[in-house]
Amino acid sequence: MSFSTLGLSQPILEAVAKAGYANPSPIQAQAIPAVLGGRDIMAAAQTGTGKTAAFALPIIELLCKGVAAKSNQVRTLVLTPTRELAAQVHDNFRIYSANQRLRCEVVFGGVKINPQMMRLRGGADVLVATPGRLLDLYNQNALRFDRLEILVLDEADRMLDMGFIHDIKRILKVLPPKRQNLLFSATFSSEIRQLAKGLVNSPVEISVTPPNSTVKAVKQWLCPVDKKQKSPLLRDLIAQNRWEQVLVFSRT
Ligand code: AMP
Repeated sequence: MSFSTLGLSQPILEAVAKAGYANPSPIQAQAIPAVLGGRDIMAAAQTGTGKTAAFALPIIELLCKGVAAKSNQVRTLVLTPTRELAAQVHDNFRIYSANQRLRCEVVFGGVKINPQMMRLRGGADVLVATPGRLLDLYNQNALRFDRLEILVLDEADRMLDMGFIHDIKRILKVLPPKRQNLLFSATFSSEIRQLAKGLVNSPVEISVTPPNSTVKAVKQWLCPVDKKQKSPLLRDLIAQNRWEQVLVFSRT
């Protein structure tokens, strides 16, 4: 499989070649045609699978075909749990869209809001944001979502773990209902499925990380033991097996 069979145009293929990617990763091979076809997506994929390019490349392709964002408008909103991830995703969009005329911006908390407001005045074809700062900017009329086309939730499970569910719900309320939704999460817990219910429409489901997978090279066994015997058992195991390096996970 090569990138040229996925429906991406020449400038994007050039950017991919420049990044040094020879072939699409499994998630890219599945997600890119689906996103280009306008479908919603629910993808189970961890960092390292190439998930960022899996959504960034087709989004750039779709955005280049439409009308550029005007003042304070956002055409694609990418929500991430942390500012580090926001910065990384933004860097990826900039690299892959280097040959295009797209405005890609990033906003997150912990830094001054005014420079971010200034940058958003010209509009953003892609805005990567953490949820809290995004709401602050929206409440200060620095953003308009009337022309929003695509919403991406990246690392949705981490966003829920970090307590962003209420912020996400507030954000969803102010977005236009007709839009394309892409949901990426390392796991699909019941909470994520609940969130997805109110978010994605007949999504293409993609999974590149089987749940609870074990590594074959790692031997696992179980020693059922009374609570009081746990420490003596551990001592015995270490002594008998002459273990020199051991990680012990405990509750406290
Ligand atoms: P991600 O899963 O999005 O965090 O990407 C993990 C790393 O894989 C990043 O450093 C990307 O630059 C790189 N990458 C993404 N797609 C490909 C590809 N098709 N071939 C080789 N490397 C890639």
